[in-house]
Amino acid sequence: MTSLFDPGPSEVGVTDAGGGDPGPLPVEVVRSARRVKTVSARIVDGVIRVRIPAWMSPADEERWVRDIVARIERSRRCGRIDLARRAAELADRYDLPRPDAITWSERQRLRWGSCTPATGEIRISTRLAGVPGWVLDHVIVHELAHLVEPDHSPAFHRLVARYPLTERAIGYLQALTDQPVLGAEPPAA
Ligand SMILES: [Zn+2]
Repeated sequence: MTSLFDPGPSEVGVTDAGGGDPGPLPVEVVRSARRVKTVSARIVDGVIRVRIPAWMSPADEERWVRDIVARIERSRRCGRIDLARRAAELADRYDLPRPDAITWSERQRLRWGSCTPATGEIRISTRLAGVPGWVLDHVIVHELAHLVEPDHSPAFHRLVARYPLTERAIGYLQALTDQPVLGAEPPAA
């Protein structure tokens, strides 16, 4: 059913310039009289306005609205986190390389983060925008360590262990993974 989803830029990349955490926005659902085929949403006057095709069943409406609102709220939370600055500070603190680029990824469905050592690029799952900062930092350190050691070797684990909350963060993410609503998620890769 993903073909219903029009992944246009108007739906994602919503950043909150207001600062602070004002909490979730109210949601308004509009059944479009026009022959729209896709579900779309944007923020209008502080309200997430979701447009759905008129023919959509209530069950589909519930699922699609929930998904797109969750996506927008993830995006708003991501916009409040300066990932590049955070990664640079962690790299300096734990004597690891700074990444050439670090970005949020909505497509990281199976991993918390990923790293391409050849290009120095790190991607962090947008699902982590809602976890405590010390858990996010663990995933960033994990990926920074991959810039030095691509494999999960003993040398890699020694680098990761420089972050003192590693074990606690792994436990936190494992508990998150075990929640049925999120499905099976392997740990940071
Ligand atoms: Zn890994």
